[in-house]
Amino acid sequence: MQAGQPLRVVIVGGGTAGWMTAAGLSRLLDPRDYAITLVESDEIGTVGVGEATLPHIKTFNDMLGFDEAEFMRETQATIKLGVEFIGWTRDGDRYIHPFGTFGERWAGVDFQHHWARAKLAGRKVAPLQAYSYAVALARADAFERPSEDTASIRSTYAYAYHFDASLYADYIRRWSMRRGVRRVEGLVLDVEQDGGTGHVRALRLKSGAVIEGDLFVDCSGFRSLLVGQAMGVGWQDWSGWLPCDRAFAVPCDRVGRLTPYTRATARDAGWMWRIPLQHRVGNGYVFSSRFCDESRARETLLGHLEGSPLAEPRLLRFQAGRRERMWEGNCVAIGLAGGFLEPLESTSIFLIQAAVMDLANLMPAPGRPVDARLAAEFNRLSSLQYDRVRDFLLLHYIANGREGQPLWDHMRAMTLPDTLAHKIALFEESAAAPGYLYGLFSRDSWLSVLVGQGIEPGGYSRLADRLPLDEVEQRLADLRGRIEAGLGMMPSHEDFIARHCGAGPAVRMTA
Ligand SMILES: Cc1cc2nc3c(=O)[nH]c(=O)nc-3n(C[C@H](O)[C@H](O)[C@H](O)COP(=O)(O)OP(=O)(O)OC[C@H]3O[C@@H](n4cnc5c(N)ncnc54)[C@H](O)[C@@H]3O)c2cc1C
Repeated sequence: MQAGQPLRVVIVGGGTAGWMTAAGLSRLLDPRDYAITLVESDEIGTVGVGEATLPHIKTFNDMLGFDEAEFMRETQATIKLGVEFIGWTRDGDRYIHPFGTFGERWAGVDFQHHWARAKLAGRKVAPLQAYSYAVALARADAFERPSEDTASIRSTYAYAYHFDASLYADYIRRWSMRRGVRRVEGLVLDVEQDGGTGHVRALRLKSGAVIEGDLFVDCSGFRSLLVGQAMGVGWQDWSGWLPCDRAFAVPCDRVGRLTPYTRATARDAGWMWRIPLQHRVGNGYVFSSRFCDESRARETLLGHLEGSPLAEPRLLRFQAGRRERMWEGNCVAIGLAGGFLEPLESTSIFLIQAAVMDLANLMPAPGRPVDARLAAEFNRLSSLQYDRVRDFLLLHYIANGREGQPLWDHMRAMTLPDTLAHKIALFEESAAAPGYLYGLFSRDSWLSVLVGQGIEPGGYSRLADRLPLDEVEQRLADLRGRIEAGLGMMPSHEDFIARHCGAGPAVRMTA
């Protein structure tokens, strides 16, 4: 690294992680100080899944300056207001984890305390789901952008997207290259490391080309070419907690209404996803090979498709867990190279986005050696993210009522991480739910899954006692009235897409 020269950032991998990293860094950093190169191999290709997101992606897209309508058109995107869980307590049960709030804070106290208090006092109280405008919207297959008037019930939700993973990678690749990211096509065969520090100095490609760099971002997918293989950073295996380790994925024709949410349906040995896009529906069966063989899983998936399959089901193998350190020496792992937790809550793309932002914030200055303290902070933040996501995913499984099904029996009997056991106990005692300032998930998300899985509070914050119970009952009824009235003003999701971002002839109006 020479003084006065830009710092050479080399990204290995051109999947969602690689191109989101290239786009984010090229947008946020001064091009006079940072030269960004991305190496990807057509021979290997990408994992090609990853189609449901969280609302944070909108912040990332806005930061990049994407035009939303164009982005949605080009990626065949639809709106996602949350995830509907079917059969997670027992067959036929359903609830939605919405991207929106449950109720309102009254007298400075979170809604669930008033709700729990009224319920425990035997007052007229509806299920928690009835107090979320986002749930009502999703159930009505309706959508409009949230209102900017914060007093309106129509401002109490956010939204994310479902999109076609390969069209998304294409879109973000074109955008990054327009901003000066250099793309090199080639297979990395060898990694050259400094004999003293162990830092990576250069990549040797199959073509014989050598790509030198100062900071390397490992976005090579499950291979983890740099952080895992070259730097030898260990793997924390979390399959003891999250035993699903396979998925079959297959797209099918869309029939029926264009639902503005992802569906996750529990099955004997795992769960199935359904992600509606404009031009097709993405489906997959995530299962545990300890409890189901691959051919039975394939049959289960094909047996539950709503339309004709558009391709052969594709098998993906993985293990839940993460690298012990995401940043080692001068290499930073982002995306599948750093870890993977099953896609139940669509967290991987969020984890990529968060890592890109953290890396941009902690980026070494040009002309200076990579400081180990930057790496330590990055590692602290990513551990926090992964641990919290793991606990949240586990929460979906452990309170199931699917007795007699080996995977589900196993999950109910499991010893929980202390962090999760504490959260559940606290909620049962006092209706308190986590509210993180950094990372996932929000209080409302925790509430939706805790209550959705049948975990009920036996107490509440005594601060809620300041409001008379009659008034609470009145406010609860009023809130439901406002949700109902707001809903009447909403167009259908299908109309919204057709008006704002329909992808043209490929859109199938089969409802
Ligand atoms: C079954 C399943 C479902 C998922 N669903 C979701 C979801 O709904 N939402 C969500 O947020 N996430 C989801 N994910 C995760 C999501 O797909 C990934 O996080 C995302 O695609 C990022 O992948 P990646 O870029 O890290 O890796 P990949 O897509 O595997 O890309 C790796 C890149 O590295 C390159 N490469 C590898 N080795 C070399 C080499 N030697 N030389 C040169 N280049 C090389 C490849 O060519 C490729 O470009 C899902 C994952 C799985 C397995």
